[in-house]
Amino acid sequence: MKSQEPFTKTFSFELFPPKTGAGMEKLQHNVRELSRLDPLYFSVTFGAGGSTRERTFDSVQWLASEGLDTAPHLSCIGSTRSEIVEILDQYKAQGVRRVVALRGDLPSGAGLGGLGELNYANELVGLIREEFADHFHIEVAAYPEFHPQAPNANADLKNFMRKVEAGADGAITQYFYNPDAYYRFIDSCEGMGLAIPVVPGIMPITNYSSLMRFSDACGAEIPRWIRKRLEAYGDDIESIRAFGIEVVSGMCEQLLAQGAPGLHFYTMNQSVPTLRICANLGLSPAR
Ligand code: FAD
Repeated sequence: MKSQEPFTKTFSFELFPPKTGAGMEKLQHNVRELSRLDPLYFSVTFGAGGSTRERTFDSVQWLASEGLDTAPHLSCIGSTRSEIVEILDQYKAQGVRRVVALRGDLPSGAGLGGLGELNYANELVGLIREEFADHFHIEVAAYPEFHPQAPNANADLKNFMRKVEAGADGAITQYFYNPDAYYRFIDSCEGMGLAIPVVPGIMPITNYSSLMRFSDACGAEIPRWIRKRLEAYGDDIESIRAFGIEVVSGMCEQLLAQGAPGLHFYTMNQSVPTLRICANLGLSPAR
């Protein structure tokens, strides 16, 4: 992997829209803690088919009211073009300048296609450029260990290229614990002449069973040595967290040293694990 140094290193934090008032209060507390690190932006996930539309919007609105830059996620599967444009119009009116453009996850049992007017993320990127020109900075998803539904690695790389050609400005990866997969992915992007920053998505390890469940579904591999160590801790949550912070901090340090343009943390609406990893990386609160 060649260094991606021309891009300034960036740090960003992903949140999901809470379902309850208590969840919102927790999110607000954690965002205030994380914002002391002066991140580039906070992103907020979006349920496929618009299932969290209002909640994502409310969270984005609260973040904006705190003077924080936000990047709402937007998934296109199951939505019409006019629904997507309506959502983006609302965000534009709110002053949002960055979005994460995704296909979204298909409801279980559904086949590919036929669920809306846009079936793949490259079509969503194209629509955003068509309707909003350069108003939005567009991030897309990248898969160093490949998307689970891709027929093969080359087809998935070609899909990534389609998203960049449609107008993506940057990408955030699915999380991984095999840095070599990321380095190889960057090499492939460079081989295809793609020159956008691809920021590693970082998932702190805090819970063994939920990590395994999540990773199976999204196609992220937990290396055997990490799995075996986590298994051995059993219900000892403190040891799992301490081990997770050590392993993930080491990986982040290596990724940055090897030229990754920044890090995007999947915070799961918690601040402590991400803050500890950032502290290990020498990132101290700016405010
Ligand atoms: P796409 O880029 O469209 O790819 C999906 C699959 O289709 C891939 O296998 C690809 O190879 C294949 N493909 C693409 N184009 C074609 C084509 N023309 N012909 C044939 N095959 C094709 N999900 C949510 O629901 N909400 C979120 O907020 C959310 N946030 C995410 C954030 C990040 C950083 C990441 C990495 C994922 C996120 N996801 C989210 C999950 C994501 O929606 C799923 O991984 C989804 O299955 C794929 O979305 P995508 O945008 O990568 O799809």
